[in-house]
Amino acid sequence: MHLYDLTIHEARALLDAGEISAVELTQAVIDRILAVDNDVRAYLTLTPEVALEQARAADAMVGAGLAPVPSAPAQGQPQGWPLRGIPIAVKDIICTAGIPTTCGSRILEDFVPPYDATVVARLKAAGAVILGKTNTDEFAMGSSTENSAFFPTHNPWDLERVPGGSSGGSAAAVAAGECLGALGTDTGGSVRQPAALCGIVGLKPTYGRVSRYGLIAFASSLDQVGVLTRDVTDAAILLGVIAGHDPLDSTSLDVPVPDYTAALTGDIRGMRVGVPREYFIPGMQPEVEAAVRAALEKLADLGAEIVEVSLPHTDYALPVYYLIAPAEASANLARYDGVRYGLRIVGESLEDTYKQTRGRGFGPEVKRRIMLGTYALSAGYYDAYYLKAQKVRTLIKGDFDRAFEQVDVIVAPTSPTTAFRIGEKTEDPLQMYLSDIFTLSVNLAGICGINVPCGFDAQGLPIGLQMMGPALGEMTILRVAYAYEQATDWHTRRPPI
Ligand code: GLN
Repeated sequence: MHLYDLTIHEARALLDAGEISAVELTQAVIDRILAVDNDVRAYLTLTPEVALEQARAADAMVGAGLAPVPSAPAQGQPQGWPLRGIPIAVKDIICTAGIPTTCGSRILEDFVPPYDATVVARLKAAGAVILGKTNTDEFAMGSSTENSAFFPTHNPWDLERVPGGSSGGSAAAVAAGECLGALGTDTGGSVRQPAALCGIVGLKPTYGRVSRYGLIAFASSLDQVGVLTRDVTDAAILLGVIAGHDPLDSTSLDVPVPDYTAALTGDIRGMRVGVPREYFIPGMQPEVEAAVRAALEKLADLGAEIVEVSLPHTDYALPVYYLIAPAEASANLARYDGVRYGLRIVGESLEDTYKQTRGRGFGPEVKRRIMLGTYALSAGYYDAYYLKAQKVRTLIKGDFDRAFEQVDVIVAPTSPTTAFRIGEKTEDPLQMYLSDIFTLSVNLAGICGINVPCGFDAQGLPIGLQMMGPALGEMTILRVAYAYEQATDWHTRRPPI
């Protein structure tokens, strides 16, 4: 077993026992990055000096017998340095003070934030070592990282294939041993879908559970920071660090953060697991359906009761998402005007400066979304598209409210297929959008979801199982995910790279 292959909780135990140092662990992960990242290309920015400095500080805490406090632990955060010396990666759409934050876009290529996002401040306050910034589709718009303005990331299970997206850099880094855990963001599936395609765990918390302060906005009513890890225990640990109220984000919930690791009992006897009949569609890869059905049997073996449920407005999730998300994006991205920050290409007039800057700074998918969103919000179309979409969003949320009266969790596939080939879907945006057909509803409803590995297809590519819970139901989905994980060994497999 290599140090870079350890889970967070395994590394925690070795660090606490003094069997390894944070510097040794961090150096092992940096060496691993140097060995494989030319092929995987998970990172946009690497900060090895910063990481080693943080690792030395983490080791010094032990020597001094007292942990120096880099900043006060955030409210609701577990005490006791849960991430002391643990190397973590951060998606490049989350602000890091003094370290470039590009959103995978030319328009922010040279942007260096003057402050840390709250989630980054919390990682640091928990003692984490920050390795760098991971690749993403431009402004998190995409499902493969191919929309990154810089380069696509490759799936560690098959380098010819995508890692999923938009948090594909974070997912690939976790799968390839290039960090022990990572932060991503999920607006319509961008944590769960890449986790599925890379064979790891990815958790999207309830809207408002985690602060969005310092997360560069894509679609503000949907965006949420999530965690990508090698197992469910690590997801519980990392979520516990980043969750909690933040006065700097008015949408963050002022609700105490439970000890998520207390959900890891392995006991799901008597729990009710819903299977939505709308989530098994023609056209999905048969091996995905078979693996998900087998996982449901496993849950039944563990004592859960499997119940069929209906989410009748599921068909509308894709069109509703592709009205609301672009509408919000078109408003959020208006700030990149070449005047305040980011790229500036000076034109002949102010208007020309806007045109040149935005014309060259944004890639084709971002422009497509801005046009779609502006159209949906314009006078005469607002009622027909945007307002209508908001009403249907309420119906989708109602579907989940009714289902959760009957069941504790809802289990479905995460993605209709395993990892597709690089270039396979870039010419057809609609095909790409369909990749998130099973994940979008969770964001529209504001609830939580987790991906856990549940098998491999004939080509050796990972298959993902999605568990959805009600608002603030993180304890419930973690409990079911952990019980399933402990009864299977999919999470122990590592890619051949
Ligand atoms: N793939 C979806 C999109 O392109 C979701 C992206 C995300 O969750 N950030 O919008």
